[in-house]
Amino acid sequence: MKLRKKESRPSMKINRIFIDVDDVLNKFTMYALRSVGCKSVCGFTFSDSVYNPTWKYDIVRAVNNMLMGTGVKYTRKTFWDSISREVWSTTPYSDEFRPILRHCRVLVGKPKVALLTKPIDDPECWAGKCEWIRSRCPPWLRNRYFLGQPKKFLAAPDSLLIDDSDKNYDDWIAAGGQAILVPRPWNRLHGYDTAEYIEQCFRNLNRIKRNSWLDESLNSDPLVFTCGMERKSFDELNQ
Ligand SMILES: [Mg+2]
Repeated sequence: MKLRKKESRPSMKINRIFIDVDDVLNKFTMYALRSVGCKSVCGFTFSDSVYNPTWKYDIVRAVNNMLMGTGVKYTRKTFWDSISREVWSTTPYSDEFRPILRHCRVLVGKPKVALLTKPIDDPECWAGKCEWIRSRCPPWLRNRYFLGQPKKFLAAPDSLLIDDSDKNYDDWIAAGGQAILVPRPWNRLHGYDTAEYIEQCFRNLNRIKRNSWLDESLNSDPLVFTCGMERKSFDELNQ
């Protein structure tokens, strides 16, 4: 007996989206580095000649490398202690802020989109992040946020995470969710055009949505969407 497609092939289309804030919707890392005196950071642009990809997702390693020879050296505590509430609350938008929100709205609708961000263990950070969300986000998103960890606690087969951290991405996928890794100098997609990559991912998600009977989900290997894309330095991409 032939089963109806809907019964035999449950849809993996996206029903909820969680968007990371720092370094996805804004330029936190570059802004924070500049705030502690890293003069090589220009315009808070994501740059892999400024932020060496070998430093990975480790901002304290980055700051100490950038300030090498100046006599200034940070520990994890002294670095995070020097990031004020004002830095958290005034970080500039990323170039992806508008396209990501537009894609999410179109794919699932505003009521199914929320922010998901992990503050450091400092009330000033919590306050600064809330101020950023309330002052920078459109009204429909201002009260739609989750602060805390672990992010993977919210993972589900029909939930999409958009994040710049390899670990958050991997943990979310391992917990059964779907995810988009946003190319940045510190993750394994460094060197791919961020705007083009995100377009490719959402093109695929819209295709899955249109063919909702397909037993298909966003591929769990982020490199799949880089095929046909050339890996360049962020500086070449920014030229
Ligand atoms: Mg982030």
